[in-house]
Parts: sequence; C-alpha cells; structure tokens
Amino acid sequence: MKKSKLVWLLFIFSVTLYAQPHIKGTIEIDRKLGIIKCAFTLSKIPQIEAYSILLNKGMNIMYFKDASGELLQYDGFYDGKMEGEAIAYTLGGNTSSPKKLPSSFFMSYVGAFPVYGNEYNSFDFKGNIAINEKTLRAAEQTKWYPVLYDTKNDKVIHSYTYDLQIKTKDSSTVFINGSAPKKGSEVKLTSTKDHPLLLFVGDYEYNSYQGDYILNSDISKETSMLIFKNIEKIKSYYAMRLELDFTDHIYLMNHESVQKRKEGSSWGFNTYPTFAFTGLDFKDLVAENNRFSEGTLHFFGHEFGHNYFGNNVMSGPLSWFWSESFAEYLSFGVASDLGSESFLKDVLIYHTNVVKEGTFTPLTKIKNKKEIGENYRYSLGALLLQCFEDRFGKKQMNTILKALLQMAASETLTLNSLKRAAIQSGIDKKSYEKFHTKYIANTKFKEHIIDRIEAKYGSN
Ligand SMILES: [Zn+2]
Repeated sequence: MKKSKLVWLLFIFSVTLYAQPHIKGTIEIDRKLGIIKCAFTLSKIPQIEAYSILLNKGMNIMYFKDASGELLQYDGFYDGKMEGEAIAYTLGGNTSSPKKLPSSFFMSYVGAFPVYGNEYNSFDFKGNIAINEKTLRAAEQTKWYPVLYDTKNDKVIHSYTYDLQIKTKDSSTVFINGSAPKKGSEVKLTSTKDHPLLLFVGDYEYNSYQGDYILNSDISKETSMLIFKNIEKIKSYYAMRLELDFTDHIYLMNHESVQKRKEGSSWGFNTYPTFAFTGLDFKDLVAENNRFSEGTLHFFGHEFGHNYFGNNVMSGPLSWFWSESFAEYLSFGVASDLGSESFLKDVLIYHTNVVKEGTFTPLTKIKNKKEIGENYRYSLGALLLQCFEDRFGKKQMNTILKALLQMAASETLTLNSLKRAAIQSGIDKKSYEKFHTKYIANTKFKEHIIDRIEAKYGSN
C-alpha cells in the first residue's frame, strides 16, 4: 500500500503539463518597408517557476502592461541575454528576484527587417524573418511573437490558440499556421487548437483539396489532388505503424529563400501541420506513374515523422536525438515500405558515409544538446535506431515508439525512458544492456553502427 502511494506521488510530481496559452491582438504589416507592428495580449499563461519571454532581436518593445493596463517593469532591454534568435526578457525590472510570470500580460512592439529584391543574404534558415518582393515568412522559430521559455526545464512554449487581426495594405493573402489562408487587407484568423505560429503573408494564390492547402504555387487542381493522394499514403503508413490517427489538415507552402540556392537544390522545414519548401517545383513531386519519387517519399517521410516526434520531444540534452534522429529513422520505413528495399539501402549507406570521418560522443556522455550536431542527429542517431530495429524487430520498435510518445507527454525523455520502453515492450534486460553497451555507450559506438549497417546492407 505504502509503495503504491509513493509511486503515484512520484508520478504526479514528474508531470510538467503546460496549459496552452492564448494570444489575441493585432498585427500590422508594411511588407514593402519590412515593418511588423504587433499588439498582443497573452493569456492562459502556465505557472512557470523560472521563465523568460523570448522576442526576436529585431523587435523593439514599446511596453509591457498587466491585465489592468498598468505598466510593467522588465529586464532585458539593456545588456540582455540572447537566446537563439531572440532577446530574453523577464518581468520585474531591477528587483533582486524577478516577478512571477503573471497569468496574462499585454505587450506592444515594432520591428523592421530587410526586404530582399534582386540581392541575396549569405544564409537563410527557419529562424530568419524573410521578406522578398512577393512574400513575408516568419516561422515560430523567429519568435516574431512573444514565446515563453521555461528555463528550468529547457522547454520552449510557442504553440498557442489564437485570435488575431492582420492588417496589410500591400498583400493579397494572409496565412497563419493551422487556419485556412484568407484573402483581404484586413483579415481575422482564429484557432481554438494550439499551433506554433508560422506567418506567411504576400501576393500569392492557393488551392485546396478536402481541407488541405497548397500555398503560393500555380499548379492545377488535378496535380494538387495527386499530391494529396500520395500524402494520404504516408499519413496512413504512420497512422497504422504508430496506431495514432493523422487527423489534421496540412498545408504545403512554397516560399523563396533570401539566400541564393544552388540550381536544383531544395530546402524544407516543418511547422506542423505546415510543410514549407523552397526550390521545389510542386509539379515535379508526382512522377509519371502519379506516385511520389523515392526521394520525395524519403523527404516527406522525415517531415511527417515530426508530426509524432517533433516539438513534444524537444526537451533536455538529447532533444535532437529524440526529434531529428527519430524522424529520420521513421523515414527509412516510409522509403522502404512505400518505395523499395534498394532505396532504403542507398539511404543507409549514404548516412554511413556522412559519419565515417567524424568523431561523436556517446549519448550517455552528452551534457548539452549542442553536442548533437547535424551529422549526429540526421545520420548517426538514425542509423543507431535502424540497428535497434534490425536487432529487435520492427514490431517491437513500434511498441517502443508508442511508449516513448506517451512518456514525452509528461516527462523529458532520457536514455532511461528508452530502456524502460524497451523492457516494457518485452525485450529482456540482458539483451537490451548488450545493445546499449555496444551501440549507445561505447566509445567506439560509431564504428560498431557502421560495421553493423554495412554487414547487413552492403557498402560502396
Ligand atoms: Zn527534421
């Protein structure tokens, strides 16, 4: 009796569930000048013990106010701390202990960003507010809106329900992630389901099929239908494999990078349920047989994987392993099951070649999420999971994936979570330990993974 009570208590205290904040207010956009002006009330803010409010470094704050309209003191405007693309603010000012995060606050700010015409920047990425002569793109990673950061648990909270009024005098179409795009110079978009707020405003057209949308592309209704039918196959694959329905409408967005891209190269990012692409002609997605090419299957396979292993697992030092390595590993299954075994082999061998020269710290010794670099998260981590599947079987792996997703809802995933999920799935402790020692904790884990993959799939 005593023991079960303790377990229950531990369970309660390990849960860090966040209520979803609500954002309401106005966004005024002068796209030709690159000016974004916002006035927002953030409410339903969860009780976070140690926090900061992140806002893009290009935004200048007019003020913070409390619910009764009184000005709030805040820190961060002088010698402020950068957190990625943003400056971190805390409410309370010069007091020795920062004020508790209120359950709601109002803030107003304005920012100006370069408008790229015929010229380019040396880089572009998801954290960049990108404006060119046709569109303005600001993903949630840019923190163009106030994003909450739980500093103690290293958790970014940027998925909000919303009620937003968008005014643009020089754009025809407005889109915010999770809502159908709308035409007009003054548009109201609301969502009772929380989403990371990707904003895409400009002079562009769109078309839809059964609630799914393709933005800023001139493809025909027939071609979009073929694309969505192929996407349906990937959705069904995941729904069956993970026994979790894929019920959301999705948005395919075409945008132009402000970095000049190599001819024929494409770049994609995912702000669930939006998939943003640059350098990809949507007409070319569907091959002559009306099906996605294997490369496209792999690409979408990875992005759709984030619908399951995405922001929900982005916590703790192994964040990138849980998100990118798992999404990439899942894409191997899409590539082989909806494509071909030979394509799977090509993909795996490609990844072994990517990691051959590098040195990598075993996951057991990772202290900081930055230690899991791109080759680690996209290639080596995914190969490790493929070795795991090859050793214990796909069925077992599916059970483990489901268990991890359940755990991620209430805790930061660790290697111990993986072990727990594996043992719960029926893998005996000894076999798990053996795998762990050789492929996870070992200083030569990379070599062991490569040997294993090459032994099974060949090399080149
Ligand atoms: Zn990814």
